[in-house]
Amino acid sequence: MNLILLGPPGAGKGTQSDWLRDTYNLRKLATGDILREAAASGSDLGNHVKEIMASGKLVSDDIMINLIRECISAPSSANGFILDGFPRTLAQAEALDTMLKEEGKKLNHVIELEVDDAILVGRISGRYSCAKCGAGYHDDYRKPAKVGVCDSCGSVEFSRREDDNASTVSKRLEGYHAMTAPLLPYYETRGILKSVDGMAGIDEVSRQLKAILAA
Ligand code: ADP
Ligand code: ADP
Ligand code: ZN
Repeated sequence: MNLILLGPPGAGKGTQSDWLRDTYNLRKLATGDILREAAASGSDLGNHVKEIMASGKLVSDDIMINLIRECISAPSSANGFILDGFPRTLAQAEALDTMLKEEGKKLNHVIELEVDDAILVGRISGRYSCAKCGAGYHDDYRKPAKVGVCDSCGSVEFSRREDDNASTVSKRLEGYHAMTAPLLPYYETRGILKSVDGMAGIDEVSRQLKAILAA
């Protein structure tokens, strides 16, 4: 099963793609995570994308398409994948279609997490994650069971993303509406777009995803 999760920054794509990965044994391909790893590596490409991410702009289609190509053809994606953060432009969506055709694969569902802009800043400013295993948390909406200890791995170290600040967030939101929202009609025309209420609680959103995958 091959899925795309679409939605603005803070919609819950990362949270739900972790759940989908663990529940359905799929490979999670999160381009933001892949780019942050590249940025931390200090490579030339890493330094280049680090600057772009800090500004809230999009990394170029060429770089993104080359990055994702390898992931999709890797043996670890054989049981299916969840794309979180890709495609983000029409050019990326078209390139993805071509790649999938070459690999003899297809998309089963493109799932939109519908969330009003008004709540996204609160989602993003309260976001943090485990520094060791990457499990995602929120100051108000998803606290670890034991304060200061990661539910998944027991680590006591957490981190916040540098780009999760109010000024970058508004640029990322603008970018979403201008560049990524046009993907909704693109997939709607192909009959594979499904929408869920991303304003609902985390477990309720997962239930809605489960219903789509079971249908
Ligand atoms: P969020 O989940 O908050 O929307 P991501 O972690 O997906 O953020 O992405 C962080 C940043 O990485 C983006 O603001 C952008 O600069 C870059 N990025 C991630 N995916 C893409 C992509 N498909 N195309 C271009 N830039 C991307
Ligand atoms: P995205 O990957 O789309 O940028 P995340 O999955 O990282 O979004 O979610 C952003 C923040 O909001 C995280 O701190 C997460 O714990 C929290 N969150 C995710 N889904 C929900 C939800 N349905 N209700 C409340 N908070 C949520
Ligand atoms: Zn952890």
